Amino acid sequence: MNKAATQLSATLQLAMELIRRKSVSPVDAGCQAIIAKRLEACGFKTESMPFGDVDNLWACHGDGRPMLAFLGHTDVVPPGPEADWSSPPFEPVIRNGMLYGRGAADMKGSVAAMVTACERFVTDYPDHRGCVALLLTSDEEGPAVDGTVKVVDALTARGEHIDYCVVGEPSSLETLGDVVRIGRRGSLVGEIVVHGVQGHSAYPERALNPIHAFAPALNELCATEWDVGDEHFPPSICQFTNINAGTGAANVIPGQLRVTFNIRHGAVSTASAIQNRIRGILDKHGLKYDLNIQISGVPFITADGDLYEAVRDTMYQCLGVIPRRDTGGGTSDGRFVAPTGAQVIEVGPVNLSIHKVDEHVRVDDLDRIADVYHDLAKRLLVS
Ligand SMILES: [Zn+2]
Repeated sequence: MNKAATQLSATLQLAMELIRRKSVSPVDAGCQAIIAKRLEACGFKTESMPFGDVDNLWACHGDGRPMLAFLGHTDVVPPGPEADWSSPPFEPVIRNGMLYGRGAADMKGSVAAMVTACERFVTDYPDHRGCVALLLTSDEEGPAVDGTVKVVDALTARGEHIDYCVVGEPSSLETLGDVVRIGRRGSLVGEIVVHGVQGHSAYPERALNPIHAFAPALNELCATEWDVGDEHFPPSICQFTNINAGTGAANVIPGQLRVTFNIRHGAVSTASAIQNRIRGILDKHGLKYDLNIQISGVPFITADGDLYEAVRDTMYQCLGVIPRRDTGGGTSDGRFVAPTGAQVIEVGPVNLSIHKVDEHVRVDDLDRIADVYHDLAKRLLVS
């Protein structure tokens, strides 16, 4: 190892090693094996839990409760055209105090910080109470079907229960620790198929045009106020994402119209309440339709409790900030852990560049976030 490399912190070195692995979702590219080997060396029991073509890793130290689990993912989103990057996306480079590379912020940097924090924690406190664990998947950026959700199901089936879950998703907005996510909105994806009667556009009286029939309902759905939100969640929103009808001929009234939409909702409106309101509007307009709704995440919230207090006190001590509590952004794998009754909070680096060209993370932040994870484990598992 050359002299420059020895001056890099353990967290930074591991983050760079992970970025070098081209783990575009759902590929893990050996990231979890590197991590498992390190954690085994300091006394963790590790378990590879593959489902389908997804790699998952479960590692724990100690036993019983409370169980603190760090949750992360080793997969990344595709880099897009590599020529658009200032340096190759899978070759970690440090420029001006920033580490560049795909996954630097989302979330190989925080995965590396979790690993070094766990290593330090079990070395400093080998007899801690309960269990400190790490759950990694390679299917967070993809369909998220064979990843965290399956591992959580397997753990539940064998009676293992996560009490505190710290998700390493990049939660910070501008500076490290300015925001933590204490929950996420729910997301549901729906499709409406409106049935009409196909016919000649010159003889509309002999057809039933589903575009004309649906237009007023679409207008009403777009204008609907689903709720006004609450102290933790913004108002729920509906966005139509596709609309399609037509046979390809300009003189044919189509027989069918298809639309898809996505609703992001807080805890104020449940998925079934939203579904009932959509049906109410479609029925009111006399449509003949099929409605198919898939729930891709239920809303969750950890507004207070031991975990939030530990996060707040740790961040004040390590970073000198009291983070703003937020529920913004898309969904995260926290949605699969929260329904088991676990307290779930997302604490991670700045998210300004995630999923973008030239993704980066501040080098100093990697060690600071590792300190936060280490201190959190201490607060929760050392009495
Ligand atoms: Zn992520």
